Amino acid sequence: MTKGNQRDYYEVLGVSRTSAVEEIKSAYRKSALKWHPDRNPANKQEAEAKFRECTEAYSVLSDPQKKQIYDTYGHAGLSSAGASQGFDSSIFQDFHDIFGDFFGFDDMFSGGRRGRGRTQRGADLRYDMTLTFEEASAGVTTKIKLPRQEFCEACNGTGAKKGTGVVACQSCGGRGQLAYQQGFFTITRTCPACQGAGQIVRERCPDCRGQGRIEREKTIELRIPPGVDTGTRLRVAGEGEPGPNGGPPGDLYVVLEVKEHPFFERRGADLYCTIPLSIAQASLGVELQVPGLNGDEKLKIPEGTQSGAVFRIKGRGLADPRGGGKGDLYYHVRVLTPTKLTRDQRKIMEQLGATLKVENKPADRNSSIFDKVKDIFG
Ligand SMILES: [Zn+2]
Ligand SMILES: [Zn+2]
Repeated sequence: MTKGNQRDYYEVLGVSRTSAVEEIKSAYRKSALKWHPDRNPANKQEAEAKFRECTEAYSVLSDPQKKQIYDTYGHAGLSSAGASQGFDSSIFQDFHDIFGDFFGFDDMFSGGRRGRGRTQRGADLRYDMTLTFEEASAGVTTKIKLPRQEFCEACNGTGAKKGTGVVACQSCGGRGQLAYQQGFFTITRTCPACQGAGQIVRERCPDCRGQGRIEREKTIELRIPPGVDTGTRLRVAGEGEPGPNGGPPGDLYVVLEVKEHPFFERRGADLYCTIPLSIAQASLGVELQVPGLNGDEKLKIPEGTQSGAVFRIKGRGLADPRGGGKGDLYYHVRVLTPTKLTRDQRKIMEQLGATLKVENKPADRNSSIFDKVKDIFG
């Protein structure tokens, strides 16, 4: 049976028989954008007819098999093959590829995609964890208890009571999808009765109440490398939730928070702290035992040290968790001016003051009173 009123598909799209796929695609895009009913509110009827026509032409010419039939037998060939009964919804997958989210149909397409029973990856899980400064600095192996969904062993994840099996879903006839006609579009949605599985259990598994999965607490051993900081995310592959329909599991992300140290301030892998000095210690020099990351460190203050000087002990900071050596340890010294002097101390200070020469005029901008960082060895 021929349809005499049907226009030639090549004519509809304005392409030739030798046009390449890309050319056909681009021609279709142009006319579909031109004739989309949303863009032609004044002559919606005509636009809808034209839009349908070019979409049908494209659905045939973009499919090598259909194109060959059409080239050989014309419209008649397609009618007998049952291919020109409108257009099947798979064209919309293409439609989406061509137009992206231009018409805001993303939800409709993704709904259709979801229902095809494709395996999906399980959900990623996040676990927040707080560490002491010492744990973060040295690294720690710990166990965490994680509530998560696991496959029900009693029913092997099917949700059906042992020996009862499953039946095809009546709502969707086992297809997992429902098709709606909306305007001239066919919209497919995941069947709500079976959630796209296409089948329904006869009797629910008593262990999981038909869910196929059970919430269980799983203990995971976690090795935290030394040097981690607040905000560090550790990925534990495959320890997220199992994927539906036998899909691969998601990942577990452990997000760390590290408590602050009472006096060490952290900048990356480097550590800073402030050490007070008396005027006498700063003037005459002194050797101090100061706290370090792993026990005391020896800090030699040379005579004539200015307030604000910074001393560095190389390689005694935190480890770089990305495996790049160690940071440094910085001691910033602050000379304390005495605020309460005894009568004797005051006398001595006055005697000292009379002999000390200082020019009380502004210092040169470029000459900082803060000495450069001094390295301490040994
Ligand atoms: Zn079960
Ligand atoms: Zn169903």
